[in-house]
Amino acid sequence: MIAASFAGLNPVGFRPGRARATGHLITPAMSLALAGGLSTTPSAMTAKRCYYETLGVTRDADGDSIKSAFRKLAMRWHPDRNPGDPEAEERFKECSEAFSVLSDGQKRGLYDRFGHAGLNGGGGGANPFGGGFEDIFAHFGDILGDMFGRGAREGGPRRRRGSDLKVEVELDLEEAFTGVTRDVTFDRHDLCGGCKGSGARAGTRPDHCGPCNGTGRIQRQQGFFMVQTACPVCRGQGTIIKDRCGDCGGDGFQRVQRSLSVKFPAGIGDGNRLRVQGEGDSGGVGGERGDLAIHVRVRPNPTFQRDGADVYLTRDIVFTQAVLGTDLEVPTLHGAQTVSIPAGTQTGTVLRLRNRGMPRLDGVGHGDQYVTLNVAIPSTLSPAQAELMEQLRCAGL
Ligand SMILES: [Zn+2]
Ligand SMILES: [Zn+2]
Repeated sequence: MIAASFAGLNPVGFRPGRARATGHLITPAMSLALAGGLSTTPSAMTAKRCYYETLGVTRDADGDSIKSAFRKLAMRWHPDRNPGDPEAEERFKECSEAFSVLSDGQKRGLYDRFGHAGLNGGGGGANPFGGGFEDIFAHFGDILGDMFGRGAREGGPRRRRGSDLKVEVELDLEEAFTGVTRDVTFDRHDLCGGCKGSGARAGTRPDHCGPCNGTGRIQRQQGFFMVQTACPVCRGQGTIIKDRCGDCGGDGFQRVQRSLSVKFPAGIGDGNRLRVQGEGDSGGVGGERGDLAIHVRVRPNPTFQRDGADVYLTRDIVFTQAVLGTDLEVPTLHGAQTVSIPAGTQTGTVLRLRNRGMPRLDGVGHGDQYVTLNVAIPSTLSPAQAELMEQLRCAGL
């Protein structure tokens, strides 16, 4: 599978010998000296090699040099190239560990100052990849994935996922208050009925793509590495269509209108989104559907202003109601309610009606309703009213 040339690969920095554990703290400089000067046997107590030495880079190497050195070594000791070779496995883990430290500015700083002891609180630093190769691939997939195609699904064209769709739904405040079930209608891509998504005219089948041998991927060499790309002939599909389906023109999809019954929960707010999994565009044969995102708009209400679960309302009262006190009927989303206005109420007074607001989305109770009282001064008076007002003035009001 791999045809990469190793000519010119310089395995500098790799030596089979290892420093023996001495029981003392081994600094990178010491470890370097020990590694060069002693022949030893590997054991559980083996001291770690200097990370710079492991990667064969100088201590002032920049990020690119470190990455490049790592790629070369990882290439050489990659488990796919050295199946069943425990030493290669060990080397691969070792250089991955070194790279994980030296490619991270903070860890590298600690390592430079304190050596292995500076990482993981001493004792030489645990291998961050105790879980094995899969951990390493998970960490460095972007670097290693290219080399051996692990990033791609093996043995076939890549599965596609359909697009996510977005639809907007407008609700009234009353609907948001009670919760409502609505039919939501939108257009999406489904598999073409004429060709069942294959793109080939009914009665024919797509042909196997020759250049990629039906895999949808081709490999080409770039320097030391084999790089996988989508096959340009079949555009990653692994098949080519000679006789196209007349219904869809060969792309395998048709646009259809879909209607879904969607329950909007009580308390839903303007700007909330509901995600309906698997109701987006089709991803093609064997592919996965995208999702549908429903953006909720709640229309402004002429009576109530809303802020989260609380609602706000302003009511006018006449000055005699304010002065003498009264019972006042105010609308709430729960129905009209009579509230008691005490004598001597000032304009701008805010009444709080507990639990008269919107249901909370988490289902725990309701918000409150706030009623701001505005004492309205009459702009015109009947002759009888004017006379009474005069009497009030004489009485000192
Ligand atoms: Zn192809
Ligand atoms: Zn079709």
